[in-house]
Amino acid sequence: MFQEEAVKSWISNVIKPEQYEKYMENGKDFIDDEEIWKKLRANRNPEPQKIRDIIAKSLELERLEPNETAALLHVEDEQLWQEIFDAAGKIKEKVYGRRVVTFAPLYVSNYCVNDCDYCGYRVSNDKVKRKKLAFDELKEEVKALVEQGQKRLIMVYGEHPASDAKFIAETLKVTYDTKVGNGEIRRVNVNAAPMSVEELELLRDIGIGTYQVFQETYHHETYKRLHRGLKANYQWRLYSLHRAQEAGVDDVAIGALFGLYDWRFEVMALLFHAIDLEKRFDGVGPHTISFPRLEPAVGTPFYEKQKEYLVSDEDFMKLVAVIRLSVPYTGMILTAREPADVREKILPLGVTQLDFGTNIGVGSYSKGAFNPEKQQFLINDSRSLDEGIRWLASKGRIASFCTAGYRCGRTGNYFMDVAKSGKVHHLCMPNAILTFKEYLLDFASAETKKVGEELIKNELEAIKHPELKKTVAEYLERIEKGERDLYV
Ligand code: SAM
Ligand code: SF4
Repeated sequence: MFQEEAVKSWISNVIKPEQYEKYMENGKDFIDDEEIWKKLRANRNPEPQKIRDIIAKSLELERLEPNETAALLHVEDEQLWQEIFDAAGKIKEKVYGRRVVTFAPLYVSNYCVNDCDYCGYRVSNDKVKRKKLAFDELKEEVKALVEQGQKRLIMVYGEHPASDAKFIAETLKVTYDTKVGNGEIRRVNVNAAPMSVEELELLRDIGIGTYQVFQETYHHETYKRLHRGLKANYQWRLYSLHRAQEAGVDDVAIGALFGLYDWRFEVMALLFHAIDLEKRFDGVGPHTISFPRLEPAVGTPFYEKQKEYLVSDEDFMKLVAVIRLSVPYTGMILTAREPADVREKILPLGVTQLDFGTNIGVGSYSKGAFNPEKQQFLINDSRSLDEGIRWLASKGRIASFCTAGYRCGRTGNYFMDVAKSGKVHHLCMPNAILTFKEYLLDFASAETKKVGEELIKNELEAIKHPELKKTVAEYLERIEKGERDLYV
């Protein structure tokens, strides 16, 4: 596809040191490994009262300080953990209500110049079949997703000249322009390599949703050991979301790949990342935090060889709850990497976004195929969107396909203010109900419709404001008669 020389020359122009060095202080970034360990050590054996005070602070939707998070991470007592889990659920209800956002990942290209030890797409893996979607194929993928009823995607790309910023921008345009009957994708988020400010401006102009870059591990030494190629530059990656903010992409998403290093350390570092974004961008922290756990991948022995830091289900529950308490305003994403029973346990701990109908082989949606040799890693929850939505509804949770927030400019700073004051819920529940109704009419199975209609009835009842309740009831009738895309 690309001659070796062309790839080399492209690589040499990607990183712009002046675009991250300006954020560093005395040559240092905002993750001080020693400081994190010091704080973790200093907060061992916390008093129960101290933990309860911290829980109370989180319930007021205040972001925690690192020492407080460090104390939570050292709770031993089971009863106290239960209190933390309960608080995590309550915080989520306060900020986001009973809504859960659903989405699907769409892998566009798995060519990659990097060599991350744990990833199936790394350049040295000859067991993976390389594939980049042509625009016609992309349209077919998008159509297949729209036909499932999906409205939000996260599009995923390896780092390669074949999938540079210009290509990503074109694929966003193709995706937004693809319509099938009543259906269309209304929000496209992107998970791709770090880019320059200028490249991110290109994506901003085309209407990128959230831009997601996971630091994988924040521990400098471990990072260095596991990454080669462009990705070996820790700071280029660490400040990628600062550059996004600079470029006017105001919804940015952070994450750590749990299983590479000590989980308590990574939770602390995620908090420091949120704090630095808040500090520099007028209080706007991460729109979402992701906490993927390492999965086995085709042709990738890393998982089997390096088990030291793998996170147990029990610790996973703890780390999710502590993230929820530490950054109450942020969205939290739990992907289909996790099996259904784990998603069942983690959902009540403050998760706001889940993917369903997931297929992560490049080009697999339209072919309905499962291609492990085109996948980056293996997924564990293969429930369809319909099944996922029925499951959520049976738990009293309404799947929200609403993207009105973004069209109304409810992003970045505005969204943060609303989230921090715990009002997303009031603002978004009516639209969640309306988009849920659309989904039930256009895409749901008879079984899901039944559970879903019951949920809508209850949610309509729960709207306190009489005028708003009346409007939503009217809109529901109009949707029943065939209108679409109504929002308040
Ligand atoms: N290439 C871009 C990058 O590395 O940022 C974006 C795409 S990469 C395919 C998306 C994410 O997948 C990575 O950030 C990493 O956290 C995750 N990932 C890679 N290998 C994984 C594995 N074996 N199990 C679980 N997640 C993995
Ligand atoms: Fe490439 Fe991303 Fe996989 Fe690393 S994690 S090998 S950068 S696709």
